[in-house]
Amino acid sequence: MFNYRPEKIIIDKNVSSEPLTKQLCEKFANVPKVYVENFEWHKDEQEMDPLLNPLTMGKKILHLKYFKGKSIKRCPGFSDKLICCNYLSLDLVENCPFECTYCILQAFLNKPVITIHANLEEILNQVLDLTSQKPDVLFRISTGEHSDSLALDHILKINKYVIPFFAKLKNSLLELKTKSKNIEHLLDLHHGGKTLISWSLNPETIIEQEEHKTARLNERLKAARIASDAGYKIAFHLDPLIYFSNWEKEYQDLVDQIFDTVPQDRIEWISFGTLRYISSLKSIVENRFPKSKIFLEEFVKGKDGKMRYLKKIRVLLYKNVQNRINKLAPKIPTYLCMEKNTVWENTMPYKPKNEIDVENHITSKLYNKFQNI
Ligand code: SF4
Repeated sequence: MFNYRPEKIIIDKNVSSEPLTKQLCEKFANVPKVYVENFEWHKDEQEMDPLLNPLTMGKKILHLKYFKGKSIKRCPGFSDKLICCNYLSLDLVENCPFECTYCILQAFLNKPVITIHANLEEILNQVLDLTSQKPDVLFRISTGEHSDSLALDHILKINKYVIPFFAKLKNSLLELKTKSKNIEHLLDLHHGGKTLISWSLNPETIIEQEEHKTARLNERLKAARIASDAGYKIAFHLDPLIYFSNWEKEYQDLVDQIFDTVPQDRIEWISFGTLRYISSLKSIVENRFPKSKIFLEEFVKGKDGKMRYLKKIRVLLYKNVQNRINKLAPKIPTYLCMEKNTVWENTMPYKPKNEIDVENHITSKLYNKFQNI
């Protein structure tokens, strides 16, 4: 089990009496705490020389933040040039203790600490407001956009508030995305069939080389099986697919391993996405992970500004896994993450016009299930 203990906790004064703050202060009673009005990394942390290795050092600090803005947003991958799956992102935690070499957060977050949005009740009320305005819409809401949803949850226990909250909503599905095996603490929670746990998977070769500190493949799959047995809905993301020497066989084996471990009728969907990154990430990765091999291939800049493999390579990667799924479990909905319609046309068994089509495709089974809950 991945163990994490912060070296310091920084607490916004206006969340000092929140239940989550009290719980974490109790849990880490011996960890030094600093109460602040307005936390600014470079100003408040001078004594630590944050410029020395800000990303590694920052992950050892927890910031319990009063989150003022709109906590629920459209997936940041949305673009009129690409077809997305139309889910919403709920920000509860920013940053992640795992160390995937390709992690976009390294170039994206402006504070390298792990930030917890501690005014949870207020944030969840925003979810209630939004979802109650459109009772006929099924909202898919994920907390895994700016962090791994479960990497620290066995310690922080944020989902013990969030999962029962979603259990009471009539028209919303919470998706927890993870590369961890931390599900034991979730098994007894009242989820009401309204929480889906999804695992991002790669062959063991890639996990070993590029996904440091995460759970091994067999651990993730075993956790998926246990969560499924506890009634959680399950999904998988083969994302990022990486082009490496033995990609064809290892990704086919990965698909086989999924179906050997989790019953097909428990899997709601499987998504695919190839490696993509913003240009500023490259020098950060070369500096932090000099042995990483992720940038060895040729990349091109897409209309959304992100670098991707050449289209012909992406099509090969997608076809390989889709063909295997067609053979073993053709009824499981699949979709591509952040891809152009010309790539969909060449790889997938159906051709959506827009993100609503994709969402309808992957949620048609879910609508029926929600009506029966
Ligand atoms: S698990 Fe996700 S959020 Fe965490 S380091 Fe890896 S890519 Fe980044």
